[in-house]
Amino acid sequence: MKILVINAGSSSLKYQIYDMTDESVMASGRVERIGMDSSILTHEVPGRQDMRDVSEILDHVTAVKRVVDILVDPQHGVLSSIHEIEAVGHRVVHGGESFKQSVIVTPEVKLEIRNLFDLAPLHNPAHMMGITAVDANLPDVAQVVVFDTAFHQTMPPKAYLYPIPMVLYRRHKIRRYGFHGTSHYYVSDMAAKLLGKPLNEMKVISCHIGNGASVTAIEGGQSVDTSMGLTPLEGLMMGTRSGDIDPAIVPFTMTKEELTLSEVNSMLNKHSGLMAISGLSSDMREIVQGMDDGDKNATLAFEMYVYRLRKYIGSYAAAMNGFDVLIFTAGVGENSDRLRAAVCEGLTFFGLELDEELNKQRSREARVISKPGSRIQVLVVPTNEELLIARDTYELVREAEKVQG
Ligand code: ADP
Repeated sequence: MKILVINAGSSSLKYQIYDMTDESVMASGRVERIGMDSSILTHEVPGRQDMRDVSEILDHVTAVKRVVDILVDPQHGVLSSIHEIEAVGHRVVHGGESFKQSVIVTPEVKLEIRNLFDLAPLHNPAHMMGITAVDANLPDVAQVVVFDTAFHQTMPPKAYLYPIPMVLYRRHKIRRYGFHGTSHYYVSDMAAKLLGKPLNEMKVISCHIGNGASVTAIEGGQSVDTSMGLTPLEGLMMGTRSGDIDPAIVPFTMTKEELTLSEVNSMLNKHSGLMAISGLSSDMREIVQGMDDGDKNATLAFEMYVYRLRKYIGSYAAAMNGFDVLIFTAGVGENSDRLRAAVCEGLTFFGLELDEELNKQRSREARVISKPGSRIQVLVVPTNEELLIARDTYELVREAEKVQG
């Protein structure tokens, strides 16, 4: 079975086509600058030279058409006909309280995703355009939606409610949802397989540290708490996002600096975090380089980033009354041995001993980086949200086919 995975943004669309017989990626690529006159399609097939095409792609329907065309193209394609695509899986950022797991797209599901536009105004409308574009190009193909929030729907009310008037939850569903759920689930499942223990018998703290960053406490295989909240702004200090701050800073800054709500929103989402403190970059590689060059602000940014992450790990250890496994994943978590070493340095009282050599080794494989005698096992697990979307899509479509006989 061939599964097409799509991650549609407002002006971009990323895709992968999977052969589920061995879960291999046959081809992948992206369309950028949708809606502009010089849109770019980049198409990659393992073992072949990448293809890049610049043309006018004014909407998502045309973007999906171009993707389908290139997949069956005699020279650049990997499929003999579009009928080989048996299902399409979409990444959807916000599933609210309605979606506790991935589902097959129906008219009701589409309506519910629309109802959630308010909670994810930048993301869900773009995902909906992706779904509609697949409807237009592949009308007979089943579609599945996989939500970033779904894995965290197991959080108990004490973790997901804010201590603010309950009427706001009842009327507007203001609560903590959490994000990166697909990634946190994927890496915790991989960690259990690598360690040869059932996930539901482990207490795991999973750190997804990329441009966006979140930590999740996973007990009995379920998310019991996570650092992002109503939006992906809460929690850790990130590349350009502040993470946790005193909410009173918002009205205070608006008054003192005569800023509008949208300016404060932009300040906290786009001009804070590593970028704001270092004055240099939101990219961890440049922060580390700055530290090595003796830049004091880069050093302070790194220390704050590590300190805030370590405090979250400590609080989740308390939330679960201990933990067995600590996982690092995503761009920074997978690649920065400096970050991992700095975080683990302050966690030795838990009985966590990092192996410095293993930590420094570079690899794209999931691996243990703690010493053999360490009470807590530390792992680096490369995340693969697209594969999880392909798997969920495959399973749901196969089950539906069985039911239909
Ligand atoms: P996103 O949240 O956009 O999916 P990623 O998970 O791809 O982000 O992470 C991107 C970030 O990973 C970059 O901004 C960069 O800071 C960081 N990164 C990538 N490679 C390295 C590296 N070798 N060392 C430190 N940080 C890295």
